[in-house]
Amino acid sequence: MKGSAKGKCLCCGEFYPPDHRNVRHQRYCSKPACRKESKAQSQRRWQQRPENQNYFCSPENCQRVKDWRKRNPGYWRKKKSSTQGPLQEVFQRQVAHNEELIPKHGLAQQRYVKSHRILANCRRAERDRQRDLGDCKAGREGEGGVGNCPAIVG
Ligand SMILES: [Zn+2]
Repeated sequence: MKGSAKGKCLCCGEFYPPDHRNVRHQRYCSKPACRKESKAQSQRRWQQRPENQNYFCSPENCQRVKDWRKRNPGYWRKKKSSTQGPLQEVFQRQVAHNEELIPKHGLAQQRYVKSHRILANCRRAERDRQRDLGDCKAGREGEGGVGNCPAIVG
């Protein structure tokens, strides 16, 4: 009897054929919802490691972000300029289909949206961490629970 050829998904509880390269680590099947859960779980595990617990609100992190911003001034406020490469052309061709989705700023807008997503992740991670630990005062009295880490406000 060989029952080990199948794994049981921790999310939906169904049996699935694991990827042979990943048999030892895989705990979830390939359904989109389960993959998402798998990713969330590993993120949670990562955050729970002692060395990562202050990753998003520690002074070192704030400093790291500040340094990065100093090195990349106005990164997400870049205006349309003469330095636009081929990417911009691609966007402009897409505008015909996506006029609503990609406003006039094109690439700069994309970067802006992306940086916002990253910050949102920071905030979410920070909130989750506070819920788990309940001992970090950052973010409690901030607007909408955003946190008062100077690097991620504004
Ligand atoms: Zn599943």
